Amino acid sequence: MKVLVLGSGGREHALVRSLAGDPFVTELHAAPGNAGIAQEVTCHPVDADDGAAVTDLARRLGVELVVIGPEAPLVAGVGDALRKAGVAVFGPSAAAARLEGSKAFAKEVMAAANVPTAMARVAATREEAVEALDTFGSPYVVKDDGLAAGKGVVVTEDRDAALAHAQECFRAGSTVLIEEYLRGPEVSLFVVCDGRTGIPLSPAQDFKRIGDGDEGPNTGGMGAYTPLDWAPAGLVDEVMDRVANPVIAEMASRGTPFVGVLYCGLALTPRGIRVVEFNVRFGDPETQAVLARLKTPLGSLLLDAAKGRLDEDEQLHWRHESAVAVVLAAPGYPAAPRTGGRIHGLKKAAEAGVTVLHAGTGTATGKDGNGKVVATGGRVLAVVGQGEGLDAARERAYAGIARIRLEGGQYRTDIAATAAAGTIEVPAAARPP
Ligand code: AMP
Repeated sequence: MKVLVLGSGGREHALVRSLAGDPFVTELHAAPGNAGIAQEVTCHPVDADDGAAVTDLARRLGVELVVIGPEAPLVAGVGDALRKAGVAVFGPSAAAARLEGSKAFAKEVMAAANVPTAMARVAATREEAVEALDTFGSPYVVKDDGLAAGKGVVVTEDRDAALAHAQECFRAGSTVLIEEYLRGPEVSLFVVCDGRTGIPLSPAQDFKRIGDGDEGPNTGGMGAYTPLDWAPAGLVDEVMDRVANPVIAEMASRGTPFVGVLYCGLALTPRGIRVVEFNVRFGDPETQAVLARLKTPLGSLLLDAAKGRLDEDEQLHWRHESAVAVVLAAPGYPAAPRTGGRIHGLKKAAEAGVTVLHAGTGTATGKDGNGKVVATGGRVLAVVGQGEGLDAARERAYAGIARIRLEGGQYRTDIAATAAAGTIEVPAAARPP
């Protein structure tokens, strides 16, 4: 099978790695890719958001499957363009991608499918925002309705800051969603869907804030780990029964079946499980950790989903170990990342037995460049450590990342720390009966 992966982040590097390990995948391509992906497969300088250009590339290469990594091409309808040209696609149509593209739409689908989520109101004016903020009280949760690369959400106890974020969104032409604050540990569950059936992957937890102890602003994600030894037994079944399957059925009944990854972001609250958000693609950096454990060939699974022929009884196979992904970000990230810095020590890190997955990296050109790897984006790379138990996986990941140098580079030192220490508490109501 020939496969084309769209995107250029750490998630796509992880997808390429996993697909390369599938014996049925004979040829792999990426567009546009990054410096790390280019070391493994052929990269094509095609804009992943341009449906016509991507379709043309897929036809020229004769690929049997296109895997769409990021949300932007999905929301822009690149999946639809490919399907129209007869190419199998892993990733939803633009209509189904609205589950991520509009938080208000996601709320409407959840209400129709009776899926538990935070109470919320849509606000389009300052007055509506003030009223909603005062209804739900502090901590305040204000979300840009549209796509914002994981950075459109402000959670704060400062009412002025909450209002300021709402007004910033209004100025940019967006409406906002103002929500009830959900307290409790968060879980990310990826469900591979074929339009009718969903198969869950191993649950993970990610770390959104830039700083240790969850301090500072939200980012695209600074680290992740899997599996969740602390999660209650039966959690995945409960999420499938109460969240994923009802949403899959609701989307199918609307004539917009969901094909791709339904990423369920959940909070385990004192009132039971609640959906925090949906994404319509693999999460970054959870994917880097989750796929490190997957033994089932990924290409065949994604092709079956794309062709609407998943077997709901299929059992995926996992390595019996933990995986921890730690993200290295550029100086100044997330507000104003400074790119161009040279990255040293990649080989030494690999020798420490970790997997280094590139995100915002490129190859320097010109007289002094000579193929050296430099930072080109906010999140630069992720180091994935695997081992028996979280302590071992953490130790490995941190030994690996310590060997990598990027001037001013930042990473969190507490990824998976509370889970490894066994101090995460799950409220009784969030434990399945
Ligand atoms: P989202 O983009 O909706 O995932 O939001 C980003 C992050 O903000 C989530 O991972 C949560 O940590 C936090 N968040 C979002 N909504 C809520 C909420 N209603 N209550 C508490 N935290 C939230």
